[in-house]
Amino acid sequence: MDPSPLFYQAGPALPEISHAQGVYLWDDTGRQYLDGCSGAISCNLGHGRDDIRDAMLAQLDRVAFTYRTQFENAPAVALAKALVGLTHGQLEKVFFVSSGSEAVESALKLARQYFVARGEPQRRRFVSLRPSYHGSTLGALGVTGYHPLEAPFTDITIGSLKVAGPDFYRHTDADDTRHVARVLADTRTAIEAAGPDTIAAFVLEPVGGASTGARMLDRAYLEGIRALCDEYGCLLILDEVLTGIGRTGAWFAYQHYGVTPDLLATAKGLGAGYYPVGALLARADIVETVMASGGFQHGHTYAGNPLACATGLAVVEAMQREGVLSNVAARGRELEAGLKALQARFPWVGDVRGMGLLWGVELVADPVTKAPFPAEHNYFARIAALAKEEGLLIYPRRTLDGLAGDHFLVTPPLIIDAADT
Ligand code: PLP
Repeated sequence: MDPSPLFYQAGPALPEISHAQGVYLWDDTGRQYLDGCSGAISCNLGHGRDDIRDAMLAQLDRVAFTYRTQFENAPAVALAKALVGLTHGQLEKVFFVSSGSEAVESALKLARQYFVARGEPQRRRFVSLRPSYHGSTLGALGVTGYHPLEAPFTDITIGSLKVAGPDFYRHTDADDTRHVARVLADTRTAIEAAGPDTIAAFVLEPVGGASTGARMLDRAYLEGIRALCDEYGCLLILDEVLTGIGRTGAWFAYQHYGVTPDLLATAKGLGAGYYPVGALLARADIVETVMASGGFQHGHTYAGNPLACATGLAVVEAMQREGVLSNVAARGRELEAGLKALQARFPWVGDVRGMGLLWGVELVADPVTKAPFPAEHNYFARIAALAKEEGLLIYPRRTLDGLAGDHFLVTPPLIIDAADT
C-alpha cells in the first residue's frame, strides 16, 4: 500500500533532496546533481542564496500577509514599479498572482472584461497555437494546445481557435521567409472563418517551453501577429511565464523582437523558486477601461502578499546588481556551442533550438525523415534517466500527440558560471 497521502503522476519512488547550493542539489544518499533545468525552469538564481533569504526573513519579521483591499503594501508597489521599469514603461499596470496559470487566467479575464466594458461583448474567443502550454487551470488549459492535457476537459473549458505557428525544423516550404508568410496567411484565413469581431485576444509564448521543446518564433512572425491583432482589433497576450525575468537574455523575450504585447503574463523566474509569485502586466488604458466599468472581477487571496512581493523584488534587484542578463548571453553562447557539438556528433540529435539559457534538444530516429523513435524503444526516457544517473538534471518531454517531437529542455540557473556549462 502507498504509505504517502500525496498523489502525483504514477511513477517510480523518488529520492529526496537534503540540501542545495548554487547550481547543485544533493539527495539523501549523498548523490550530487547539476540542476540543468532549474527545477521546473524556475530556480533561476540557483539555490541557497543568502540575499533572497535575508529579504524574505526581513519581510517575515515585519509582516507576512496583509490583504490588498485593507492595507497598502510597499513591497507590492516597489515590485510593480520595478516590473514596469523592466518593460521601459510600455506596460504600466501590474496585477500580482501566485502562479503562471493564474497569470494567464488573469490575462484572459482582463481581455474579456475590457471588451465587455467597451461594448463589444461578442469578443469572447481566444486564438492560440498548437502545440502550446499555458497552464493547468480551466481557462489557461482552454487556450493550451496539447491534446493529452486537453482531452478530459474539452467540453468544459473555454476552448480557443488553435492555429499552427511556425516550425523551422519540420516545415517543407521553400525557405523560412515563405514558411512564415504561409503560416500567417493560414492564420488570417482561420480568423476570418471564425469571425474576427468575435476574437478577444491572441495568446502565445514568444519562445516555446516544455510543450514544444523551446520552439522558436521569429521577428517576421511576431510582427505579422501584432499586425493581425491591430487590424482585427483584438489584444496580443504574451505568455512569458517561462521566458520572462531574464531566461532568454532579455528581461522579457518580446524585447528581442521589438514587438510589444498588450498584456503579458510572467511567473516562474520571478520568485526564482523561493516563493510563488507571478504577475500580469498590462497596458494602462486597458486597465483604466476595466476599472472605470466597476473594477476587475478577479483575484486570489494570496496574490501579491507582502512576502511574495518582497521575494520577487529581491530577485529582480539581485539580477540587476549582478548583471545576470550578460551572464545569460555569455553562458547561452557556450551552451549552444556545446549542444550543437552534440548534434554534429550524434545523428539522433535532430534539432537544437533556443536562445539565452532556454534550449530544446529534439531527438529523432532518422535525421532525414525526422521520424521520432518508436515509442517501445523508450530511448527518450532512457537518456533522461542516464543523465540523472550521471548527475545532470534535464527536463524531458515525450510528445504524445506527435506535434513537437520528443525533446528535452536544458535550462540551467541564470547564474551558472562558465565551468559548469
Ligand atoms: N505558461 C507557460 C509558458 C508555462 O511554461 C507554464 C508552466 O510550465 C505555465 C504557463 C503555467 O505556470 P504554473 O505551472 O506556474 O501554473
